[in-house]
Amino acid sequence: MNVTLTINGTRISAPVGQTVLDAANENGIPVPSLCHHKDLSPVGSCRLCMVEVDGFRTEVAACALKVAEGMAVHTETPRIAATRKLILEMLLARYHDAAGGAAPKTEFMYWVNHYGARGPAEAGRKASYEIDGDPHPVIRVDLNKCILCTRCVRACAEVQGRFVWGVAGRGEHAHVVAGTNSTMLDARCESCGACVAFCPTGALDNRKSAGGGKADRLVTTTCAYCGVGCNFDLNVTNEKITGVTSNPYAPVNGMHLCVKGRYGYDFVHHADRLLKPRVRRHVLDGLARKPGADRGPWVETDWDTALDIVARKLVAVKRESSGAALGLFASAKCTNEENYLMQKLARQVLGTHNIDHCARLCHASTVAGLAMCFGSGAMSNTMRDVADNAEVIFVIGSNTTEQHPVFGSMLRQAAHRRGAKIVVADPRAIELVEFAALHIRQNPGTDVALINGLMHIIVDKGWHDRTFVEARTEGYAEFAATLASYTPQRVAEITGVPAEQLHQCAEMLARGKPMAVIWAMGITQHTTGVLNVLSLGNLQMLLGNMGIPGGGVNPLRGQNNVQGACDMGALVNFFPGYQSVTDSAARTRFATAWALQTEDGDAAGPAPGDKPGLTVTEMIDAAGTGKLRALCILGENPTTTDPDSNHVKECLARAEFVVLQEIFPSDTADYADVLLPGVTWAEKDGTFTNTERRIQLVREAIEPLGESRPDWTIVADLARRMLALQKLKPVGPRAGWEYATPWQILEEVAAVTPQYAGVSHSRLEHGDQLHWPVKDANHPGTPILHIGQFTRGKGKFYACEHLPAQELPDRAYPLLLTTGRVLYHWHGGEMTRRSPGLLAIYPRTLVEINPEDAATCDIVNGATMRIASRRGEMIAEALVTERVAPGVIFGNFHFPGDNNVNNLTIAALDPVAKIPEYKVCAVRVEKVAVAH
Ligand code: SF4
Repeated sequence: MNVTLTINGTRISAPVGQTVLDAANENGIPVPSLCHHKDLSPVGSCRLCMVEVDGFRTEVAACALKVAEGMAVHTETPRIAATRKLILEMLLARYHDAAGGAAPKTEFMYWVNHYGARGPAEAGRKASYEIDGDPHPVIRVDLNKCILCTRCVRACAEVQGRFVWGVAGRGEHAHVVAGTNSTMLDARCESCGACVAFCPTGALDNRKSAGGGKADRLVTTTCAYCGVGCNFDLNVTNEKITGVTSNPYAPVNGMHLCVKGRYGYDFVHHADRLLKPRVRRHVLDGLARKPGADRGPWVETDWDTALDIVARKLVAVKRESSGAALGLFASAKCTNEENYLMQKLARQVLGTHNIDHCARLCHASTVAGLAMCFGSGAMSNTMRDVADNAEVIFVIGSNTTEQHPVFGSMLRQAAHRRGAKIVVADPRAIELVEFAALHIRQNPGTDVALINGLMHIIVDKGWHDRTFVEARTEGYAEFAATLASYTPQRVAEITGVPAEQLHQCAEMLARGKPMAVIWAMGITQHTTGVLNVLSLGNLQMLLGNMGIPGGGVNPLRGQNNVQGACDMGALVNFFPGYQSVTDSAARTRFATAWALQTEDGDAAGPAPGDKPGLTVTEMIDAAGTGKLRALCILGENPTTTDPDSNHVKECLARAEFVVLQEIFPSDTADYADVLLPGVTWAEKDGTFTNTERRIQLVREAIEPLGESRPDWTIVADLARRMLALQKLKPVGPRAGWEYATPWQILEEVAAVTPQYAGVSHSRLEHGDQLHWPVKDANHPGTPILHIGQFTRGKGKFYACEHLPAQELPDRAYPLLLTTGRVLYHWHGGEMTRRSPGLLAIYPRTLVEINPEDAATCDIVNGATMRIASRRGEMIAEALVTERVAPGVIFGNFHFPGDNNVNNLTIAALDPVAKIPEYKVCAVRVEKVAVAH
């Protein structure tokens, strides 16, 4: 219900319960405030928002005054201006800027100047606190500028859920303090910078841009790291990215960002950037190289030379050996438009379905499993929906606060502020466990047994949703029969989870409705990855949690655009929009859209066939055996990120011809014959699709550096050259390659991809929030999937049996290795290791080991360890911690070479999704004596 009031004589309508401050701001009437922020709880301490109200004897704080029918408010009167000036002068009395900054750069100084407030003379004043009072690598602390508005304290608690900041002392000695007078990092700061974003005075500032003045321009874009898809403003000064600032209207994240999004931008200008094409000397000279022989030196060259070399070689291989001898890696870091072009290049120009990308290594089992259960392989609900509406949140195999940090913080707030119950099932005591009502610690690789065991109890107790099962599913009888043997006793033996905990967990999941399941690679990266996903689909159908707010299946996609790369058909078995290559109608549709003709006017395909192509790992193997003669890699780094990296390197060393399109000379560049310099996300336009199927704009903030080019232009240029070499003419309505902007590619995507049919640049620019499917230009998008009906009609139960992991510990290799990422780095680390702030916080590989195992190996915290598997070795620093259970160690792959955990991992594959089993292999550990 709304009330009508006037503010400065203007009639406005505002909802009952709203404050006058919010009502004024929402109606474009600025009222100054320092302690208040729309995203934080009100404290009403600064009183700067004082207003006059007819009938009130004194001024009142607008942040504490609720709107009322007929109320007449005045926000700017001489009396109020005098009050605000006085308040600001009192605040200035405790404010001291050693640099003497009076420009309206901060919110505080803006109001000081606006009301003409004057503080005590700066001359001779001394700082009360150390000016750079905390050694934090990315945040600069100067408490002399603190006015005790406590926004930082509330931001840390209410946005990040970390509670680093507090207030110590009383009266004039009151001051904000990290932890109990410790440093921020010691107080478990996660460096998200929320305190900086909310601070109105610059007492907390970004170390790198502190005192740097106002940026020339702000460009709103989407983060290049994880699948949460946060938006923020890139600050551009003198054509350089100089910082990231929160954009309060960012649809997913508001003011919030994680450490990578806020501080991991400076790789853009790193000296290692590839700025000119490079070709190996022998390639330039037209000389052959023996398989496995050294590739020789690089020579920088021009674009025409490099592209002609690539085009001629690929066309020659196609002529001599067919398209089956060519392979392409698309990239989940690149835009939808670029991924669309990569798969079009593969299928139309080169005639092969050998097109894949790193989804194969992270969520291929999700795509396959959910398509089998429901007909659609994506997150069913949105992050905000889960955080706001789920009664119970079942987090299994997702280290959410480190891998999807902004969503992880939303989950913390769901538990902290509205009492949602979080149940964590994870072999590690991940950080979210601190906020969980229950943590069950299953043995790695036993998820099918665990979920079957929980469902056994649910069915046994009659807690399942019979109405949902009957009305909306099929295959229940066979599935239920399988559950019979998964008794709590048997499941306890397999999983290591005590039977009482299984009962407790089953009851929590079943009794709290709606319940949302969240997972990531702890579920998918197994030889049973698809079975794990099917089991979670079974669970949600059994409990009737599909197609409702606060429920659903919610796989968190890793890379910024891995969802989009899948949607675009950068997969061996799907055209764009998950149209199967085995479906003759789909093949006909694309053959028509992309039709080619010879010079004589004869039809010339494309006809890449009805057999899915080779996956990422299969292409690497095939390149090693010679079955694949040329490999084009866009923005991926398989020597670091693929399992069993020694094997990957051997295969690439033998590969006949490798083209790498990259921003840095990554480890994989050592095995390339041609290097094509692409650009970072800050240098191009396009779209990313986040984990919740939300399509968002990426905007060019600066021109491409050096001679680097946006990847979509490189791919299109190559395609035109190769069609010309083959004397082929594009004749189909979507067959051409003359794109002036990425938005023309997006238009083509919409024309051939049913889920994107209503997506356009103009709608996105206009601010439409579009979650696919977007069926036409007027369709509002679909935030929640499967309401009333599944994509495939009825949901299908699958009977799943527990199967052990491929390689379990034994006498020779007695420990179980599981792998993952850490908060401060991203994937192979090519970007984060080139962001000095991130590297300063997490400078080297750490491997977690339980104190019991550490003691057995005579290892102490910080010791250097050698870890060996049957495939290789790595060296790492020991982090002795109870986060891992006895018998389990945990490592990451952010540091290449000797420090890479993928030297150890096994390339055993899930038989359906062909995803490798990164999460389980057997290793042994020994201490390395370090010479002093
Ligand atoms: Fe970027 Fe993900 Fe961090 Fe958001 S949570 S800022 S998308 S890395």
